[in-house]
Amino acid sequence: MASSAAHHATGWAAGVIAAAIVAHSRAGGPYHVWVALAFAAGVAGSTAPDWLEVAWWSRTRRLWITHRTATHWGVAWIALLVAAYHWLGHYPVAAALFGFACGGVMHLLADWPNPLGVPWIAARHSLNWWNSGRCDLLVVGAAWVGAWFAVTRFGGVGWHAGYWLRGLGLG
Ligand SMILES: [Zn+2]
Repeated sequence: MASSAAHHATGWAAGVIAAAIVAHSRAGGPYHVWVALAFAAGVAGSTAPDWLEVAWWSRTRRLWITHRTATHWGVAWIALLVAAYHWLGHYPVAAALFGFACGGVMHLLADWPNPLGVPWIAARHSLNWWNSGRCDLLVVGAAWVGAWFAVTRFGGVGWHAGYWLRGLGLG
């Protein structure tokens, strides 16, 4: 995997993207509570493919799913993302689900360039750009460029990006 620091840093970006899109879709709910939830779920989702495969409830914490198989399956994450997007504004839980899926997809993107690859559809595919942990800055930078794009494009509607970014210590 990309380093866990990189997954966290890209996860925050995924949360920002999810929050901006939820806000834009006017599914923000009272006091933008679903926007905040989408953000938190994005952060949680960005590490989910790695913690879902660990038996964290057991003392030994062994892997109960082989690393980078089922929990890193691109089809499932993207299907969840698309479904949750369609549910935005219809079901309150959709915002959190959407955020979680944003985080998951972001995780796969961060894992993709290193040699182990990601099983997007069936077989694992790797971009083979660099080894795990290398070029984290590039991955994180790309994620935040995406986040910046999402905020400037979607963030204007009923949501004050500046306020949130200042809260994150970024603005
Ligand atoms: Zn991973």
